[in-house]
Amino acid sequence: NLEVGIVGLPNVGKSTLFNAITKAGAEAANYPFCTIEPNVGVVDVPDKRLSVLGEMVKAKKIVPAAMRFVDIAGLVKGASKGEGLGNKFLAHIREVDAVAQVVRCFEDGNITHVEGSIDPLRDIEIINTELCLADMESVEKRQERLVKLLKTGDKKVPIEKAVLDKVLAGLSEAVPARRLGLTEDELEFLKELHLLTMKPVLYVANVSEEEVADASANPHVQAVIKYAAGEGAEVITVSAKMESEIAELPDEEAQEFLAMAGLEEAGLDRLIKAGFKLLGLMTYITAGEIEVRAWTIVRGTKAPQAAGKIHTDFERGFIRAEIVSYNDLVECGSKAAARDKGLVRLEGKEYVMQDGDVVEFRFNV
Ligand code: GDP
Repeated sequence: NLEVGIVGLPNVGKSTLFNAITKAGAEAANYPFCTIEPNVGVVDVPDKRLSVLGEMVKAKKIVPAAMRFVDIAGLVKGASKGEGLGNKFLAHIREVDAVAQVVRCFEDGNITHVEGSIDPLRDIEIINTELCLADMESVEKRQERLVKLLKTGDKKVPIEKAVLDKVLAGLSEAVPARRLGLTEDELEFLKELHLLTMKPVLYVANVSEEEVADASANPHVQAVIKYAAGEGAEVITVSAKMESEIAELPDEEAQEFLAMAGLEEAGLDRLIKAGFKLLGLMTYITAGEIEVRAWTIVRGTKAPQAAGKIHTDFERGFIRAEIVSYNDLVECGSKAAARDKGLVRLEGKEYVMQDGDVVEFRFNV
């Protein structure tokens, strides 16, 4: 249940974007046991490979991967001090695994900006500051506890204290914890604190419909891109308004609409893919006549654990995985042809799954 939280100041287009997400929503039939809260949107992860394989094996059904977006409303300046929905907002953000921050880059005199003008970098800083302040509180609380633990003589305590001092110094300069270049060992000490500024971030630049296809003339967008590059973050340029209109159209019309707007892909699809990647996820595929299906795994997952996504028995009784990469399979035209060319591999327990692996697991029951 990995989730991306959508945050941003009021009136930047969050709800509009979230609306588009829920309208585009995933096929509910694929998730029969999920109850969905109103602020959660489940979407299919777009993946053209699935339909290609579907045709190849004449599958009756295609089941894409899914992911969740959470609408986290209520962030304003002062949230860390309880302004607006303050603490509730921060609690929500703590529960998600990555953050998509929507920033307003569109001009519209009819829609007021809470801070009085369009300035996405200032908006990013406001949110960043609130998150840093909230994290400082978490770190300081832990430090108070450490003072007591120091007396126990536990050798780990002073090491942890040094790490927290470093993090606190960074946060007080508004440097998010994720940007402090901490080592694996140092990060270990932070795990339980669930710091907000540790979460990976991407920026959604909300522009006018006219600018979606080419935002190079919009200085706000360019400023956001430059800023994001500084922290290695991705920027997705969308028009939330246009996305919510596209999401209402049947597939074919949506394609026409996009073509007319000079776009190859809906902004929402770009956002979903970026969010999926931001969460550190990838997919492997099973392809049979009954269905072609994408399975979601964390990058670095080994074959038995990947098999466990299908059924725990597959993991327990794992023998081998028969794997052909999507590209090889498509190039050969069929699994039999791929096998003839020696491109179907048998992989064992230590195999690290790759995105686009087309898999059949062998297991004992
Ligand atoms: P939120 O407070 O961040 O959730 O913002 P909303 O999604 O409610 O949007 C605030 C206002 O901006 C609404 O009137 C939207 O219709 C409008 N809006 C959202 N996206 C766009 C956009 O891309 N262009 C324009 N012109 N207006 C937009």
